Formats: sequence, structure tokens, C-alpha cells
Amino acid sequence: MSRRLVEVALPPPLARQLTYAVPSELTETVGLGSVVLVPVQQRLVTGFVVAEDPPAGDLSERAIREISQLIDGTLLSPEIVQLCHFLAEYYLAPLGSALAAALPPGVHITSRRRVRRGTKPPVDGLDPLSQRLIDEVSAAASPLTVTTLKRRLGGRGLEAALRRLSQAGAIDVQPDLQDASVSQRMRQTVQLIDPRPAEEVAAELSRAPRQAACVTALAAAGGRLPKQQLVEDGYGYAILQALQRRGIVDTVDEQVIRDPLANLTNLDAPDLVPTQDQQAALDTVSAAVEKSDSTPILLRGVTGSGKTLVYLRAIEHALSLNRSAIVLVPEIALAWQMVRRFRTHFGEQVAVLHSQLSLGERFDTWQRLRRGEQRIVIGARSALFAPVRDLGILVVDEEHDGSYFQDDLDSKQPLAYSARDLAVVRSRLAGAAVVLGSATPSLESFWNVRRDKYRLAALPSRVDNRPLPTVEVVDMRQEPFQRRERVLFSKTLRLKIHKRLERGEQIVLLQNRRGFAPVVQCGDCGESVECPRCGVSLTCHGAQIQDLRCHYCDHRQPVPDRCAHCQSMEVKLQGVGTQKVETALEEQFPDIRVIRMDVDTTGWKGAHDELVERFRRREADVLLGTQMVAKGLDFPDVTLVGVISADTGLHMPDFRAAERSFQLLTQVAGRSGRGDQPGEVVIQTRLPDEAVLQAAARQDFDAFVENELVERRAAGFPPFGRLVVFRWRGDQIAAVERAAHEGVIRLRQTCKPGVQLLGPAPAPLARLRGRHRWQALLMGPSAQALRQTTSTALTSMRQASSRFDVDLAVVVDPQTTM
Ligand code: ADP
Ligand code: ZN
Ligand code: ZN
Repeated sequence: MSRRLVEVALPPPLARQLTYAVPSELTETVGLGSVVLVPVQQRLVTGFVVAEDPPAGDLSERAIREISQLIDGTLLSPEIVQLCHFLAEYYLAPLGSALAAALPPGVHITSRRRVRRGTKPPVDGLDPLSQRLIDEVSAAASPLTVTTLKRRLGGRGLEAALRRLSQAGAIDVQPDLQDASVSQRMRQTVQLIDPRPAEEVAAELSRAPRQAACVTALAAAGGRLPKQQLVEDGYGYAILQALQRRGIVDTVDEQVIRDPLANLTNLDAPDLVPTQDQQAALDTVSAAVEKSDSTPILLRGVTGSGKTLVYLRAIEHALSLNRSAIVLVPEIALAWQMVRRFRTHFGEQVAVLHSQLSLGERFDTWQRLRRGEQRIVIGARSALFAPVRDLGILVVDEEHDGSYFQDDLDSKQPLAYSARDLAVVRSRLAGAAVVLGSATPSLESFWNVRRDKYRLAALPSRVDNRPLPTVEVVDMRQEPFQRRERVLFSKTLRLKIHKRLERGEQIVLLQNRRGFAPVVQCGDCGESVECPRCGVSLTCHGAQIQDLRCHYCDHRQPVPDRCAHCQSMEVKLQGVGTQKVETALEEQFPDIRVIRMDVDTTGWKGAHDELVERFRRREADVLLGTQMVAKGLDFPDVTLVGVISADTGLHMPDFRAAERSFQLLTQVAGRSGRGDQPGEVVIQTRLPDEAVLQAAARQDFDAFVENELVERRAAGFPPFGRLVVFRWRGDQIAAVERAAHEGVIRLRQTCKPGVQLLGPAPAPLARLRGRHRWQALLMGPSAQALRQTTSTALTSMRQASSRFDVDLAVVVDPQTTM
């Protein structure tokens, strides 16, 4: 007789897949995506059912153990499990890690178990350990974790005692699925159930005036109030119990939904009528939704062309077909404007998912999506895994943005993937349409259109035929000095700022470096002050009280009086950060009101939204900041955009440097002239002849892309070649170097034809947070050949690394090679 077998993936640190049998009583309820408790050696571990009928391999029928317990039958939908399979396979990650990433954030599936007294009394003559165990559990006010018991009683023999006692029913061992802070919050609510009018009931209670008053209070509140509130208002338990005995009120448990959008103000936006271009794009998308056609649609629309309305109407269409929608945005902090707009239009069906929510808020949102109570979710990259029902459309807004790439390579369980690319995969699994929107599409997506893999929907002009802003490039090498430094604001920019201040229009200024001065350098020997843990230049923060900070590890130290190398006193602050621009603005334009927006001013929850809303209410003339000010914001009164220095980032040692610069400049320019007044842009640079800059100044995507494609093709970089990066990390530089060399030897042995291997060499950031880094790069035209090369070598590469106590991370399709 054959048993039903399933494959169970175990989350990290085990990160393995094992085969288990489904006990007959669970056959109905265990399926793909179920969370189960399974025995692994002497322990019970939580895992996910990821496949049915796995090949038995060399396992004998008897060696296969049974699933011990079902925790949740449908925590992850089969669609998500499939998506995780793809993620694990394509990005060469453990399946368990992929599944852990797909879980409701904050819910940790751990093997933590809690022990409480069982229903049966313990038998007589227990061994001393079991007796102590029973005593501990009986004395505890709430269930104890197995870990706590281990600490108190020692680990030896404990698991066996737990099994014996729970089989005998003397104790009850339950897995702990959620943190207390995460699980549902319940609240007791008192409700009026007497059908008569409240006055009549109150009159009848004239001998018990407090009870009568309570009835009146309940009636005034619409018939129900939280019990706690009633008690606080002086209607104690005795009163409530008396009313309950009389059958006048009842107490019910209600789930309190923690709604992160509860306090969001709505917009009084008029319902817009799509323009002809918008309608044409919308028709393309709606047809795809209807036909469940997952061919990706690249919505290429210049800045201010009204992409949001296309998303909104397409989603409306999906909803009318009883389907759901996911909208991915680069950073939720930058997307509140869109959330407001959607919430105004769709009401409570709109949810947000992002890392700034409390764990409880995330859990509740997740549950509401799963139950189909909310059908639209807007979120950052992890919202890709949102458990919406019947996905009909997936939107990736600003699809070119680097934030879609998840790359936390410094964590112990690194997982690197592109949420944009996985969105395309999920849409295929779900039979949903997928829209990738941008004014400056990634070269990959652009190339996919040209190869007819993606479809194009274009919004070539701004709404109402508003003109794109006019752009002036100013050569800063021609500007005069002031106090031995070049001026920060060119004459052109100064005049234009003055004009805006006079006319009461608004200004956006970009300087893509935060802090006061990015480099602190010795004027005599030229050495700069570096972070002791990362080997990068420290940035000076603060205009008045100054300290030096590392932007990678947050190391801080005072500004030194002397150069550590040559003892010279000539320590100088070099370069320009946002704080310096802010100071200079205030010095040069009396009474100017500036809002600075960078990592330092947006550190707390809601800070970003608050700054944006203050600017919208015109509490400032200038919004000054890093790349944050370039992304997606729509302020009709902004008629001037200034780029203080376009040169930061232009010559980064990275194949995407030009693309990133073009995107940033075009996007920030696009903030100007979105209302009735035409906009202007001033780009300051010392490299006015750079082709990228010229193209950005003309907002000429086609010119940029043709030029860049030629260079990428020549160098074999994406979208023509594919890349896999290997990164070794460890405390000892010699060990890291050895591990990298050994790894590369193995890679060379498995190299498929056409695959090129570069390195190993120290990574561009050779030291980060005190750890040394080396890297190697695989390059080649065929993604499959690269993956085969890698997967064949990977196991032995990992073994070699761990022998040297070095971590190895693999990134498929990396965003950068830095
Ligand atoms: P994009 O994201 O393409 O840069 P938005 O979606 O932010 O552009 O739209 C730009 C501006 O145009 C917004 O202020 C929006 O309200 C307005 N807009 C969009 N579509 C229409 C329309 N059909 N009629 C009038 N105004 C519109
Ligand atoms: Zn010096
Ligand atoms: Zn550092």
C-alpha cells in the first residue's frame, strides 16, 4: 500500500527539502503551500509543502517519516509556491529562503513550540526530569517555550520526555506560528441586542440608573462599544453582567483590524477623462486583462504624461471582472501621492504593504488580502508576494528603478532577485496582465520591446499638450570663484531662482549627495579621512557642529585637527552635500524657505510624506534633496528644477553608471512645468560635452538608448550579455582571497562554451563593515549557460568557502558590478 508523499522545504538555517508521508487523517487538508510540522532527526521543525509526489529516489518506503502536524493549510497559495520555485531555481537560492521571503513579513515560521498542561493528569511514578517538567509547566502563568524549558532543565532527554508526556496527554505542545505582537488582535465589544427602542429599555431599568445610563450610552454610539471603553467610562463589569443576564446586551469578540491607512486624508481630485493617448494605452492593457494575456506591456510615457490614470483605469477594469491588482512602486515613502489617489478612487479596497508598517499592521493587511476583502495592494518590492486573490493585473511603476533589486548581500541568508522580473513571472503564473511603466525604461525592457518579447504602449506627450520643460546646461568651469571656491549657483540659476521667488512659484533642487561635504582631505599630502571599517571616504555632516560619518556603516568620529598621515593642519572639507547647498541658499537668498529631503531628514515613519505635503501646501519655496526629489512627485507649481552638480555618479566604475545618470536627470527635469506654467531646468556640470548629459538635456531617450546599446553590445553587458557575480566575504583578508581563488578554479572547470570568467579580484568596495570582499564575474550571451556553469560548481564552491570561514553570495543578473 503506497502512502501519499510530499516534499517539504525547510526554512533557513536548514534550507533543505525532504520527503514526508501524509498521515491519512491529514490527506484532505494538506496541499501545496501548507505549513506543517515535521520531524528532522530528534526535533520537530516547521516547513512548507512545496511539491506532490516527489521522486522517491533512494529512500526506502520505511525511511520516510510522517508529517506530525498541520499548522496552516493555505498560508501560501500554490501560485506563490510556484513563484518561489522559480525564484530559487533562477536565482540559485535555497527554496526555504525564497519561501521565507514570501511569508507575511514579520511572521516567522520558527520551530518554536510552547508547552502547557494537558487535559489528563500526569501518571504516577514519573522519572525526575518528567516530574520537573510537569512542575515547571504547571507553575507557569502562560505556556513556556521549549527553549525556556531547555534552559531551565537542561537539554538532555528533554525531547523524549516531551514526546512521552504529550502522548499521555499530560502536556500539550503547540507550535508558535506568530509572534504575539503579530497575531490577530481581538477586542471585546458590547452590543445592544434588545430589539425594543432604547428609551423603553432604559425606562424599565429606572431602579438601576447606572444600567439605564449604560443602555443610553450604547444606543447613542449606534448600539455597540468596546467593553474597555465602557469600563473606563464607569460602567463596570457588574453593570455589564447584569445587563447581559437580562438579555439586553451581549459581549462578542471582534478582530481589531490595524489599518495603516486609517488616517490618510483623501484628495478632492476630480475624476479625469483619459486623453486619446491614455485611452489607447488603456485599451491595450484592458484587452490583456480580459484575455489573461501575460505578455508584458511597456508603458513608456514621458514625465507628466499621466501614467497613473492608465494604471487606475486598468485596475478598475480588472476589479469589474472580480480580479485583483498589485502595484509595485520603488519606495512606498515616495508613493503616498499615488496611494491617496487610489484610496480616494477605490476606498478601503486599497492596501499598502511596506517595511515601515508595524508587524501587526502587516499581518492584518496580509490576512485581509488573503480573504479577498481588499483587492488592490500598493507596495515596495516584497508586495510582489502579496496573497491577493485572482490576480488580474500587475503594475510595476518606474520599472527602471534600482530599488526593485533585492540584494541584501550582507545578511547571513542572502537572497538576490529582481522584483520587476519576478513580477513578469508571477503574472504568467496567475494569468494576469503586467504593465511596466517608465519615462526612462531600463535597457533590458526597451530591448525586449525591440525583440518583440514585450509590447509597447506609448504616451509620447504630456497631458493637455503641456510642453516638456526647456533645459539649459551650464558649464561650471566658466563660473567665478568666491572665497577660493567655485560658486555653488551659477549666474543663470541664481537669476532663475530670484524670478521664482518674486513670482511665488516653486523650485526643486537636486544634489545627489547628502551631508555637508562628502570628502575630508589633507591639503598637503592629499590623503582623505577614511572609515576604519569600510575604507571609504567619510562624509562631513553638520554646517555648524560637524562630525564625520560613514554612509555604509554609520561609523562616526570628530573632524581631525591634523592629517593622520603628515600631521599637516590643512585639513579641508571638499565637495558639496545637501546640507552645504541648504546653508548656501539661506546665505544668498534672504528669507528663502527650504525643505531638505534626504536620508537624514526622512529617517522616521511618515517623515517623507510630511515633507512632501508641506511643500505641496507651499510652506516652502524650495524642495532640495538627493535622488528622492526626482522620483514621481507631481507639484503643479514647480516651474524650475536645478541640478547643482550633474557630475556625481557619472563616472562610477559600473556598467550602469550612464543609464542611472540619464534616468536621474530626465526624471528630475520631469518635475518642472507639470501645471499650467511651462517649466525650466538648469543642469550645472563640469563635463558639458558628455553624451549622456546632452541626451538628458534634450530629454531624448532614443538618442541615449541607441548610443548606450552600441556600448553595451561591444562590452557584452546586459541586455546583450548576462552576468553572474560571486562575492566572497570574511574577516581575514588572506582567507577571503584563498576562498575566491579556489572558487574560481572550480568555476573554470565547469565553464560552458561562450562563458567568460573575470577575476577573482578585490571588490570595488574592498572592505565593508570591517569585512573584506573579493569578487568574480561570469559573463556570456546565454543565461542558461551561465546558470549551468554556476549551479554545477556552486556546491563545491560553497564547501570551499566555508572551510575558510568565508561567506559566498551569488547574484544572478546583478544591478551593479560594484
Ligand atoms: P506621470 O506619472 O506620467 O509622470 P502623472 O500620472 O503624475 O504623470 O500625471 C501628471 C499630471 O497630469 C497629474 O497632475 C495628473 O493629475 C494630470 N493628468 C493625468 N491625466 C489627465 C487627464 N486625462 N486630464 C487632465 N489631467 C490629467
Ligand atoms: Zn596630509
Ligand atoms: Zn564604514
